[in-house]
Amino acid sequence: MSVIYVDNNATTQVAPEVMEEILPYFNEFYGNPSSMHSFGGQVGRKLLEARADVAALIGAAPEEIIFTGCGTESDSTAIWAAIRSYPDKKHIITSRVEHPAVKNLFEYLSKNGYRVTFVPVDRQGHLDLDYLYKNLSDDTAIASIMWANNESGVIFPLEEISQAVKEHGVVFHTDAVQAVGKIPIDLKNIDVDMLSLSGHKFHGPKGIGALYVRKGTKFFPFLIGGHQEGGRRGGTENVVSIIGLGKASQLAANHLGKDITRVKELRDKLENELLKRVPSAFINGDHKNRLPNTTSIAFEYVEGESILLMMDEFGICASSGSACTSGSLEPSHVLRAMGVPFTAAHGSIRFSLSVYNTKEEIDFIIEKLPPIIERLREMSPFWKEQKSAS
Ligand code: PLP
Repeated sequence: MSVIYVDNNATTQVAPEVMEEILPYFNEFYGNPSSMHSFGGQVGRKLLEARADVAALIGAAPEEIIFTGCGTESDSTAIWAAIRSYPDKKHIITSRVEHPAVKNLFEYLSKNGYRVTFVPVDRQGHLDLDYLYKNLSDDTAIASIMWANNESGVIFPLEEISQAVKEHGVVFHTDAVQAVGKIPIDLKNIDVDMLSLSGHKFHGPKGIGALYVRKGTKFFPFLIGGHQEGGRRGGTENVVSIIGLGKASQLAANHLGKDITRVKELRDKLENELLKRVPSAFINGDHKNRLPNTTSIAFEYVEGESILLMMDEFGICASSGSACTSGSLEPSHVLRAMGVPFTAAHGSIRFSLSVYNTKEEIDFIIEKLPPIIERLREMSPFWKEQKSAS
């Protein structure tokens, strides 16, 4: 059975071009980039190229890029850097729909001496901007607001937010792990101090991330050790993955035009057809301001986990909520924050496409999924109750 992979916000396949690029760096060019000899030096030069490619994808300068072990490390590095750079400030602010990489650190800090503001979102997944701005003060060490949500795909108005945050003189970090490679980002035009990204979300290897730190931003390293990354992140570089991230960045920059438009068309077709064929189903979040590859569809009165298991029998890989929360039966914190009713949050499925998905795959899902929902609803007491009431 072939796999139909529409779970690309969880992770993506490594692009064949990335594989080809990185293979020689496992055992042929295995030198340490910091070595004085030319065998290591050639690897060092390759890292410079990768740094330039990552920087180019987001409109940054190469020296503003620090390679990290993953998106989570990039988020943590940014938040700790601000906190340590401004030890007298005891307030931090974020949104209620952040990925656990940010959310859980803020919750930890709330129990360890920090006053934390979690900015709410509305039913469309839009951030309450007035609430955010009202809570910024001289005591705020950092505002960390994601660029795009991993579950709903809703994109926040980063340009406007960054301007307001900077007007208050507060350090601004954005978790752009889901945005980079899917929508154009140009940090020359947006006043962000720090930005996190992760290679495995756009066809690079897993276990490699980067943190953009705008020139002049106060910084404090998360890993204190050797001189690597200009002393900003100790540890011998994950050479292979960095080279892979560089290649993935080049590819992503090329995909941002018509390839992503094709992904959006496939996504739109998938959701339009499913909504046409399945009653009591709706999209979670703003229809317009969304990542082009993502749709979160609520199928009311059924269990998301059951849908996933039945789709899995056809080789269809999707997700209920984010990959990190799908092990638990609690509806995701993102859907709860958006006020999605319990009976709909439970039956919400996230489809996230990539440039590798085909029309045939989307047609296959459109054919297989509606009967699955129908079968599950026949077994659902909530559905029967709702039917007899209507
Ligand atoms: N931030 C967001 C929005 C994510 O979606 C993820 C991963 O799902 C992360 C951070 C964590 O990235 P990583 O898996 O590279 O640690």
